[in-house]
Amino acid sequence: MASTSPLRASVNPTLHPAEPDNQAGVWSAPGRVNLIGEHTDYNGGLALPIALPHRTTATVRPRTDGLLRVTSTARPGETVVVALDDVSPTVPGDWAAYVAGVFWSLRQAGYAVPGADVQVASAVPVGAGLSSSAALECAVAAALSDIAGLGLLDDDAGRARLAQVCQVAENDIAGAPTGGMDQAAAMLCRPGHALRLDCRSGVTTQVPFDLAAHGLALLVIDTKAPHALVDGQYAARRHTCQQAASALGVDTLREVSPTDLPEALGRLSRLGDSAAPARVRHVVTEIARVEAFVDAVQADDFTTAGALMTASHDSLRADYEVSCPELDLAVTTALRGGALGARMTGGGFGGCAIALVQQEQADSIGAAVVAAFRQRQWPDPVPFTVTAARGAGRGC
Ligand code: ADP
Ligand code: MG
Repeated sequence: MASTSPLRASVNPTLHPAEPDNQAGVWSAPGRVNLIGEHTDYNGGLALPIALPHRTTATVRPRTDGLLRVTSTARPGETVVVALDDVSPTVPGDWAAYVAGVFWSLRQAGYAVPGADVQVASAVPVGAGLSSSAALECAVAAALSDIAGLGLLDDDAGRARLAQVCQVAENDIAGAPTGGMDQAAAMLCRPGHALRLDCRSGVTTQVPFDLAAHGLALLVIDTKAPHALVDGQYAARRHTCQQAASALGVDTLREVSPTDLPEALGRLSRLGDSAAPARVRHVVTEIARVEAFVDAVQADDFTTAGALMTASHDSLRADYEVSCPELDLAVTTALRGGALGARMTGGGFGGCAIALVQQEQADSIGAAVVAAFRQRQWPDPVPFTVTAARGAGRGC
């Protein structure tokens, strides 16, 4: 649909010549699934994402006139044009804010970046909890690092810096108050590895995660459940956690160890906020589950790893209250079909569930989930298996 806003009018590229071809190119970044460690990133906790084989591609050509001109195959017929100097929390707004925000955020951080023509194409399902937003930001950030000669893709420190820049773009320009996990995953993940992410220290560790070598697979189930409530609920959970941390006299809930938990819950109960104790219990136990999951995977103990995933789901459903009937049905059906473990992944209220399954059961478990949804006359969910893929970089 062509847009009517003057900012979105089409620009004749011949009026604003682009740089020579040798600086133009294609960059891409992956979506992600988080294996375990949900709603922990903004609590200074641990998370364990893998990068998906599904990627968002940005074809980028620098411009000399300070303009940004963006198109996306997801928005056919729409061209958004904005001057870099005009980018703000309200300009250009909507989806192009995820692209413009990266330019803005890099400039805020002191990096000189030129205007550009950016064409976006994506195989990451949008709004399904697989982090299409971070994939988009990180593909653009990777392009700008190369085009402006910033060298930030060369090592993990530079990649972590780019991830931070993208998080600021999403928070400040796109207006989504997300933690840093998605961007860290898109920038830092490596093939065949999960990324243990310590959101307090920023330290990342590559954890070998080759399920096929053990006859296993990771099944992702896109429930297709709309998550209309997610924005307000996400902010509410963050707020509760912040309030609980200050009531407990700590910077973040990461400071509360499992041993301290009973006393902390007692103190919170006496303060009279009825939701806080359960929310805190989820965060503290979830951080411990990430540690235990990493230990289990490193010991090739996938029975324990699966049980920890299921415990994570139960905690997110009962204590953090961010699941929904579709996610619960996907999880219970997968478990009944023989999965070693299953859980919702992402912010919740819809989006995707994941299940750790024997390779030969992946198809039958996926089919069982589809059948269970059909029985309730819900839209068909989409099951697919994934492997741990690479982070952002040049090429598709
Ligand atoms: P998720 O990151 O889980 O997919 P979000 O709500 O965080 O969901 O981000 C989705 C938003 O990101 C979309 O509504 C759109 O604004 C933007 N977006 C992501 N991918 C694309 C794309 N390929 N083209 C245009 N906009 C995109
Ligand atoms: Mg997102």
